[in-house]
Amino acid sequence: MRESLLAWFETNGRDLPWRRTRDPYAILVSEVMLQQTQVERVLPRYLAWLERWPTVETLAEATAAEVIREWQGLGYYRRALSLHRAAAQIAADGWPDDLTDLPGVGRYTADAVACFSLGRNVLPVDTNASRVRERTGEAFDAGCAQALMDLGATVCLARIPRCGACPLAEMCPSRGRRYEPLRKQSRFEGSFRQRRAATLRLVAASARRTADLDPAAVAALEREGLVTVSAGRVTLPGESSVQLGT
Ligand code: SF4
Repeated sequence: MRESLLAWFETNGRDLPWRRTRDPYAILVSEVMLQQTQVERVLPRYLAWLERWPTVETLAEATAAEVIREWQGLGYYRRALSLHRAAAQIAADGWPDDLTDLPGVGRYTADAVACFSLGRNVLPVDTNASRVRERTGEAFDAGCAQALMDLGATVCLARIPRCGACPLAEMCPSRGRRYEPLRKQSRFEGSFRQRRAATLRLVAASARRTADLDPAAVAALEREGLVTVSAGRVTLPGESSVQLGT
């Protein structure tokens, strides 16, 4: 299976910019962005981010407000603050042996940085890789990481896998099976997540009066450290409320 998978990847693998580097910082940025955002949306934002902050030190020197603004449109903003704090920690103390010591870095992200950047023999298992492993019954090694992810993302799809186009079909015990529909992701339209995002967009544009904003959204954003509330004014962290928006 390993050989068939790698041969398939040679000609069908996705050409993604974070696969052309071994810089641990660049790979960390890509993995944090990809945690909850689709590849197509991440692509331009990843390139823009690295152009603005090409090193961990430059990101560490940025303000939280700048980081939040640059993250706009990617959603789940807590990731941006965690990435910023991780950069500060690395700039001060270097990369920790255990990458999960970094803010916002869980097992998968730590393994991805270790495998793709540091060349450690550890297989990062995301949902795509996990699905292929489960269906084929094959564990695969670290050298298969990118190929497994691509096969899971483009062929071994969650509900209706494209077994006819799969390089592992002859050996796969799950070939031809169909799966239950996935639980639909909750709608963004009309959700509290949307209200929070809209409120954060307003505050990112300029400081606002608390009274002019959605109070529940402000409270949630404040709890997450994404805004500061003081004297009836809401701002991004560290910013002054002198200039109020309308
Ligand atoms: S044969 Fe089908 S179920 Fe098996 S790995 Fe390939 S796409 Fe997935």
